[in-house]
Amino acid sequence: MMTDTPYSFLLQNIKTEPAFREIAEKVTAGTRISSEEGLYLFEHAGLGLLGTLATLVKERLHGKKAFYIRNFHIEPTNICIYHCKFCSYAHNKTGETWEMSLDEMLETVKKAPGDMREVHITGGVHPTFDLEFFSTLLQEIKKLRPGLHLKAYSAIELDYMFEEAGVSIEEGLKILKNHGLDSIPGGGAEIFDPEIRAQICDDKAFGRKWLEIHETAHNLGIGSNATMLYGHIEKYSHRIDHLEKLRSLQDRTAGFNTFIPLKFKSANNEMSYLGEVNAVEDMRNYAVSRIFLDNFPHIKAYWPMIGKQMSQLALSFGVDDLDGTINDTTQIYSLAGADDKNPVINTKGLIKLIEDAGYLAVERDSWYNEI
Ligand code: SF4
Repeated sequence: MMTDTPYSFLLQNIKTEPAFREIAEKVTAGTRISSEEGLYLFEHAGLGLLGTLATLVKERLHGKKAFYIRNFHIEPTNICIYHCKFCSYAHNKTGETWEMSLDEMLETVKKAPGDMREVHITGGVHPTFDLEFFSTLLQEIKKLRPGLHLKAYSAIELDYMFEEAGVSIEEGLKILKNHGLDSIPGGGAEIFDPEIRAQICDDKAFGRKWLEIHETAHNLGIGSNATMLYGHIEKYSHRIDHLEKLRSLQDRTAGFNTFIPLKFKSANNEMSYLGEVNAVEDMRNYAVSRIFLDNFPHIKAYWPMIGKQMSQLALSFGVDDLDGTINDTTQIYSLAGADDKNPVINTKGLIKLIEDAGYLAVERDSWYNEI
């Protein structure tokens, strides 16, 4: 049944491919698409159709709003016990090493401008930075800045610190929550498929452990983000499998705030020979993610990773959040060859970026409450 929407014209014109028509009608009606349909979009749909459908989903949720936050990063160390082949960040790839002391990290917090709402804390998995160290860090930051949202430690870092401390996931998360943890970032998910994971990061936590940590966090009232590393050796079927696992978990807990596709960057790592996927593939990936993850409220483009202009374009492919003003406190993507060697943008610049793309810039807090 044809629905009368601004997209009716589009649907009427998808006559040559009944499969596209069926998917487009489902998306227009707000009905969930299947994994097979998601895969079909990845494999066959053109950029125009994907952009139109993803924009429909996004604007149904948020209208013309595009969100940003004032935040900064702390990367405690790039020393890491793991050897992920795609990583350009850990000391074993760069030779460059840093370990921040508690005092140095607290100094970073003290120096951060007073209007910052969130600090994002993540780094390598250091052999001796333990649960006590990271709990103390949270507690001391909260003492300095009680209103600052603490989004800290990827599931991979959590897995190691809980194992070392001999506590269960639930016990460990409760300890961190009691010390001030507000939410956890989405890093470390990579691609859940065990065969792909074995080829790109065989010595770190399994995908199912990542999912278990996030599910436990959600059940304790700790929100989180989700990511997917794409554009390396994975196939579209692995991306859909990954998205399906996230969608199922979100059905159970509704604890994810946002989904952030992370593009494989090829500089300075053991998988450099692969090169990188192009901007068209980036946009297709954002769009299919937006269409498929019907229970995720937000899709974020992390501008230090794809660059400011591509982030602007992503707003027309399902993205509604450009992350934050950040400052130059993150090196994760500059070490991996991102165009922005010094990822910094002030609030005015971010607002202009969004408005120049035809959207309304809306400042948010970490829970997406509008400021
Ligand atoms: S991706 Fe993370 S866990 Fe893997 S080597 Fe790099 S810093 Fe360590």
